[in-house]
Amino acid sequence: MKIPDSVVPDIYLICQRVFNNELTAAQGNRHLVETYGLNQSSVDTFIRNFEHMLNGRRFRRTLNLFAMRYFLERFTIDYDSQTLFKALSALMQHISYIEDQTGGKHPGMRQVFSEFVTRLPQDFQDEFEQDDIEEDVKSTPREKLIAYLKNLKKTDDDHVMIDGKSYKRDNHTLAVIKQLRDFACQVCNTKILKRDGTFYIEAAHIKARSQFGRETPDNILLLCPNHHKEFDYGETEITFHDADKVVFMMNGKSYSVTLTIE
Ligand SMILES: [Zn+2]
Repeated sequence: MKIPDSVVPDIYLICQRVFNNELTAAQGNRHLVETYGLNQSSVDTFIRNFEHMLNGRRFRRTLNLFAMRYFLERFTIDYDSQTLFKALSALMQHISYIEDQTGGKHPGMRQVFSEFVTRLPQDFQDEFEQDDIEEDVKSTPREKLIAYLKNLKKTDDDHVMIDGKSYKRDNHTLAVIKQLRDFACQVCNTKILKRDGTFYIEAAHIKARSQFGRETPDNILLLCPNHHKEFDYGETEITFHDADKVVFMMNGKSYSVTLTIE
């Protein structure tokens, strides 16, 4: 059923009260059905999607574009950046789901996504860009990725064009390195599987960015979150570093990591 735009603010408030456990889902549902004559299953979708968005989880049934914009707008007012990030991540998972189901594009929702993603702080935006790039990189042959890394030093341009899309070069390079190193921690080999089937790994600079350390395979260590924090906050000392290898002491233990990629 078509939900009148004028009702959406009230739907939002009810969803929020259900999310805060001030109302049960059944009470919220009854209120909206009785007050506005809405269809029960549409209201259920709103209530469920609200919860999924705040938790960063995929939802299946879609909202209309007006409602989605209204919800996201309110999230920017009522919650912090982390929450907006989760909501947009849920939205992107929803878009992928719908596009997989229909074999087509969901341009309206993609447009909404791109309107709100720019409201996030840069590090959150980078994470989305990273996801996007990872998709592209996954389908690129290994030799092409290696060739890309070899050519890195020849340019100072901070953006790169891949299949007609412009990405920040550093983000793209990190994605290539992660793919070529198979998303594993270079200290303990841990891989973290995400529920969307991809892997999570963090990147640490051997020579810090502030000291002009670059995003190149010989300056990036892929680390699991534990080792990344230990590397940053522990007693860490680099004892040897060249293009092929880095040796470092971390909290009293010595590590030797190969940096070449072939
Ligand atoms: Zn590790």
